[in-house]
Amino acid sequence: MTKVGVIGGGASGMCAAIELMNNVADSQSVEVTVFEKMTRVGKKLLVTGNGRCNITNMNAARSGYRGDTEFAKTALNKFTPESNIEFFNSLGLYTRTEEDGRVYPLSNQASSVLDALRFECERLGIKFVCDYRAVHIKEAVTAFSRKIVINNRDRFDYVIVAAGGKAAKIHGTDGDSYDLLKMLGHTVTPIAPALVSLNCSDFTKSLKGVRSICGEELIIDGKPEYKNFGEVQFTDYGLSGIPIMQLSRFVSMSPSNNIQIYLDLVPDFSEEKLYEYLVSRREKDTGLCENMLSGIINKQLCITVMKECNIAVNRRVNTLNDGEINALCKILKCWKINVKNSRSFEYAQVTAGGVKCSEFDPETMESKLTKGVYCCGEALDVDGDCGGYNLQWAWSSGRTAGKSIAERINSNNA
Ligand SMILES: Cc1cc2nc3c(=O)[nH]c(=O)nc-3n(C[C@H](O)[C@H](O)[C@H](O)COP(=O)(O)OP(=O)(O)OC[C@H]3O[C@@H](n4cnc5c(N)ncnc54)[C@H](O)[C@@H]3O)c2cc1C
Repeated sequence: MTKVGVIGGGASGMCAAIELMNNVADSQSVEVTVFEKMTRVGKKLLVTGNGRCNITNMNAARSGYRGDTEFAKTALNKFTPESNIEFFNSLGLYTRTEEDGRVYPLSNQASSVLDALRFECERLGIKFVCDYRAVHIKEAVTAFSRKIVINNRDRFDYVIVAAGGKAAKIHGTDGDSYDLLKMLGHTVTPIAPALVSLNCSDFTKSLKGVRSICGEELIIDGKPEYKNFGEVQFTDYGLSGIPIMQLSRFVSMSPSNNIQIYLDLVPDFSEEKLYEYLVSRREKDTGLCENMLSGIINKQLCITVMKECNIAVNRRVNTLNDGEINALCKILKCWKINVKNSRSFEYAQVTAGGVKCSEFDPETMESKLTKGVYCCGEALDVDGDCGGYNLQWAWSSGRTAGKSIAERINSNNA
């Protein structure tokens, strides 16, 4: 009997186990056990995509990834978004593609994704052992056998480390993958929270809850780092929303404390058009400044913008001078917000950085240091954009590991 242990019953671990059993020639001769630290497998999957699970993204290509993208492209090309959708179709789960190529289950429920994976594991005879935390791993070699031993007790021919990264500890991931793989001599690149909100200094609490479609530009040490567009959410600590989360990895990975985000609060207006608009308001509007911009931005933002320009909100619009119109124009197109840092791993959706990919074979996900040990998912130094890219990586890398172990077993038994 060939024994395979999977550490981590999350997205990549369950997927790896299924792919393995689906590709092995003699399933009766293989026993796969998934060890999960939490009380149940796949808890994190339930909260993905705001409870809808953004399974993948039809645009997921190397360009949507950071970290070791050269390594990642092999698994991503082997198991494309189409291939992963087919994989789920084969489990009876169908999907719908929405804007920006985001793919969701037809049911719109993340629980259906977890159910599909769980039921398939059960059908294939994959065992789940929950409330089991792997804290130790070693290779045990004798003249007659070579085994991978977990927790000095459970012995396997193959082990897949799929215990995730360090983001969202509440869902079971606390960086154990790194400790386990370090025990086998692996290197971990610097890690940081990614897809996370940002703490900003001198921030106006009054904007809490306001959402606004903006252009965003991240500047680090005076240099433009990243540009984005989309709905920014103002919070009592700083900025959030998808476009902010998208650029957050650059903030958390940077050692600099000279970081700003410039918001374009009126991305639909050119500077000239905005200037003309403001001048025409001054000509026609006899009301108070607090309402001057309510035709183009959120009222609360309007009040904040007036304060930033030192314009009393109870002044009359027709009393504004040219300097004040210019100041308003400037801040509306380019509002500088000082960033303190990113929020911590607890609040992050993924981990930037991780186990060094060059120590693994991209074709198989097998360790180059310890034969029989594989790694997949967020544990590795690969992180993706918001919008289904990270689960796409989890499925693709997990399936690569599972399939290559199956092929190895098949050729050993041939
Ligand atoms: C709130 C939130 C929303 C998200 N939404 C999306 C989305 O919509 N689309 C998308 O693409 N990505 C999303 N992500 C990211 C995505 O969920 C992860 O990148 C992906 O789940 C990583 O898969 P994984 O298998 O590597 O790790 P995980 O899915 O995190 O699974 C790792 C598993 O290992 C277990 N484990 C950890 N340590 C041990 C140990 N020592 N012993 C045994 N078990 C252990 C954990 O409990 C966990 O179950 C979201 C993340 C969060 C937090």
